[in-house]
Amino acid sequence: AKERGRNHYRFYSSTMTSKASMLLKLENLLYQAIEQNELSLHYQPQLKLKNHKISGMEALLRWYHPELGQVSPAKLIPLVEKTDLIVPVSLWVLRTACQQNKTWQKAGLPPVTMGVNFSAKQFQQPNIVEMVSQVLGETNLDPQLLELEITETALMENIEFSQETLGELRQLGVKISLDDFGTGYSSLSYLQKFPVTTLKIDQSFIQSVQDTPPNTAIISAVIALGKSFNLRVIAEGVETLKQLELLQQLNCEEIQGYWFSRPLTPENATQFLSRV
Ligand code: C2E
Ligand code: CA
Ligand code: CA
Ligand code: CA
Repeated sequence: AKERGRNHYRFYSSTMTSKASMLLKLENLLYQAIEQNELSLHYQPQLKLKNHKISGMEALLRWYHPELGQVSPAKLIPLVEKTDLIVPVSLWVLRTACQQNKTWQKAGLPPVTMGVNFSAKQFQQPNIVEMVSQVLGETNLDPQLLELEITETALMENIEFSQETLGELRQLGVKISLDDFGTGYSSLSYLQKFPVTTLKIDQSFIQSVQDTPPNTAIISAVIALGKSFNLRVIAEGVETLKQLELLQQLNCEEIQGYWFSRPLTPENATQFLSRV
């Protein structure tokens, strides 16, 4: 047993070291990524159904590394959070997205909100309000054209902090979107406490519309909830005409998803916005 214990210990300690050194390597790669412009944002348009206008764009992070290839944001963000890069990456994303929107506005393109995703850890950075305020000042973007996307689960991790921080962010004039709405555990009473402006119906509910018979109870409940709280409601992950038609029947006002457009490079997003 002693022998086994020692082996076990040795094994444990060597994986710890390699994990730590892997993180260090990744941290270095990520530093380089920022410096060498390997990070980019793609923008996915949101469509207002009643007038067929683009109401917003969501900024989605992309990292192309010459050897690793595309690293998906779902993998990248948790890595970023384990390193000291959370501040520089958050700042880079926010700044780049706001600069892009300001460029569109200066070019006379239609006003659109820019959705910027914040993970739980990013949102819980102590100086998050200052960061947003600083970037708004730098870029001179109309705060109403910035919409921070946070999941309800992230907000529920620290309710008092969330309430206070969201209040301060709303004071700056920015919009707040509850991302992946319906998948978390927040209750109606929190929806009232958190000063949010937008609900994004999680794509799993939209995709469930393909089922027979379609289960639309949650979708219509969120739409009704949005109407009674006077919130903007966006259905995410709309891929098919069938889904779109069902959402129209349910009086959903805005959609985002492959049916309308995939996330686009900055150049293509600019063209897309100029055409419509
Ligand atoms: P999310 O915020 O829920 O973003 C929507 C995801 O669904 C995006 O994946 C988008 O490309 C994808 N999508 C859009 N339309 C459709 C559709 O019709 N069908 C399907 N199947 N998928 C669709 P992506 O870009 O891979 O991002 C994944 C997640 O990574 C995001 O989920 C978000 O949580 C996170 N993420 C992306 N960019 C950032 C960022 O800058 N910061 C942070 N903190 N998280 C980010
Ligand atoms: Ca999002
Ligand atoms: Ca989402
Ligand atoms: Ca998500």
